This record gives sequence, structure tokens and C-alpha cells, in this order.
Amino acid sequence: MSEKIKVAVAGASGRMGREVVKMVLADEHLELVAAVDRSGAGSDAGELVGVKPCGIIAVGDLDAALGAAKPDVLVDFTVPSVVYGNTLTAIKHGVRPVVGATGFTPEQIQELDGLCREANIGGLIAPNFSIGAILMMQFAAKAAEYLPHVEIIEYHGDQKLDAPSGTSIKTAELIAETRKKFKQGNPNEEEILPGARGGEYDGFRIHSVRLPGVFAQQEVVFGGYGQSLKIRHDSYERAGYMPGVKIGVEKVMTYTGMVYGFEHVM
Ligand code: NAD
Repeated sequence: MSEKIKVAVAGASGRMGREVVKMVLADEHLELVAAVDRSGAGSDAGELVGVKPCGIIAVGDLDAALGAAKPDVLVDFTVPSVVYGNTLTAIKHGVRPVVGATGFTPEQIQELDGLCREANIGGLIAPNFSIGAILMMQFAAKAAEYLPHVEIIEYHGDQKLDAPSGTSIKTAELIAETRKKFKQGNPNEEEILPGARGGEYDGFRIHSVRLPGVFAQQEVVFGGYGQSLKIRHDSYERAGYMPGVKIGVEKVMTYTGMVYGFEHVM
């Protein structure tokens, strides 16, 4: 790659945003040109994320930051309530949005696709940037064609608000596309303790484990005659998403329109 890709980061003080800032500063093909967050404004972005000063001062106003820094790409890990507006702002400036924050409706994604095409730029909205998690889902969907008896067990920290996880639901949706439809288990099965068999999705079960010390793990367990198959993915830390974010930043430079889902560009 000849020229560096100029990157702005929105949500730069957040847990994911800090990892993105560190990744961009450490990558020889990327250049950090702006760091935006409603908290931490006025601080050097390097110091904000615990590395050496980099000369980019974090600011609070995205519109002004994009106008001044003229980045190629905006990586957004803010919050659901602002991410749609941020993405509109980026496209208005001709800046390619690479969005990890969640919270878009299908209609908004369609509208943003049209706006990216009008501006002749690419965009990426990716609810999961983990390469291993995407492969786990794809392998599970493949296995379900041959081994339709399946249960999903997902593990997260005990403070997670929602259950089951978004990744387990997405996995279940992909499995349901390839799996023969039927209700698993004994038709006379009785739950002595309500909830013991987990939540049902399209005839199979999802179980949510919540424990302190756990970050994000998922097992997809298939059972057949005299055999079982387990497909397991373990996320240990937020830095694990960064190889995916880097691929997203590089790929978004090469196409036009808004792509939804990291699996389409990785
Ligand atoms: P966080 O709360 O630690 O960080 C969010 C940051 O956004 C905060 O620093 C906050 O100050 C900032 N912010 C809020 N409003 C803003 C605004 N108007 N302008 C600029 N900055 C603003 O959250 P997090 O754990 O880093 O997660 C961020 C998002 O990323 C969530 O939506 C989460 O679900 C999502 N996420 C996605 C992936 C993925 O692979 N795509 C992985 C993990 C988390």
C-alpha cells in the first residue's frame, strides 16, 4: 500500500474505541488524524489510551473534526443513540464509515447504502468484527446440514444485560437456514426446574451462562449416532476484534455502497 489510510475514531475514549486508537497508532499503513468522544476532549489521544503522546488532541464535535482532519475512514464505536447521526455526518463529509456500534434499523441501513452510493464511497456496518466468531457461525451452519441435532451454549460476564447473546441468536438464525426443521428432544420431556432446558429457537435450544471472569465464549454442540461435534469460539479481550477492524478499514476503500456484516468483506 503506497499512501497511509487516514482514520478518525469516534468513541475514542470508550472500551472498544481505545483499542481502535491503539491499533491505528501501531499500524504502519494507517494514520490517526482525529479522535472524537464526548469524554476525554482536550487530551492527547495517545495518552488517552495509555500509549505515548501522538499529537492528535481528542475533540467532542464530530462534524468539526471531520471537516478539519479530512479522514478517509471514520471508525465508530460509540453508542446506539448517536451512531446513526454520526454515520450520516461521515457520509456528508465523503468519509467512509466503518461502524462497530450497534443500533441500526434495516430501513436506516438501506438509506445509508443509497447515500454512500450517491457519495460514491464505501461503508461497513459490522455487529461482530471477530474473525473467529464469524467462522464459528459459518462452520455451525455447515454442520447443521448433516447433524441437525444441535444446542448452543454461550458464556458471558455476569453483568451482561441481555440473554441470549446477539451472537448466539445470529448463529441460531444461520443454523435454521440449513437445518432440517423439527423439534428436538423427547416429546414428553418435563422441565422439573423451569428454564433447565434453555430457550427454544426453531426447535433447538440456546443456553446462557453468566459468570464473573468470563468475556465471551460460545459452543455449538451437535449430536449424531455414536458421535458429537463441538465448534467452540473463545474471545479473551477486546483487542481480539482489532484484526477485523483493520481489514474493514482497508476493504472499505475498495468498493461503493454500505455493506452490512463483516462476513461479506473478510
Ligand atoms: P463504551 O461505553 O465503553 O464506549 C462508548 C464511547 O462512546 C464512550 O467513550 C462515550 O463517551 C462515547 N460517546 C457517546 N456518545 C458520543 C457522541 N455523541 N460522540 C462521540 N462519542 C460518544 O462502549 P463499548 O464497550 O466500547 O462499545 C461500544 C459499541 O460497540 C456498543 O454499541 C457495543 O455493543 C459495540 N461493540 C461492537 C463490537 C463489534 O465487534 N462490532 C464488539 C464490541 C462492542
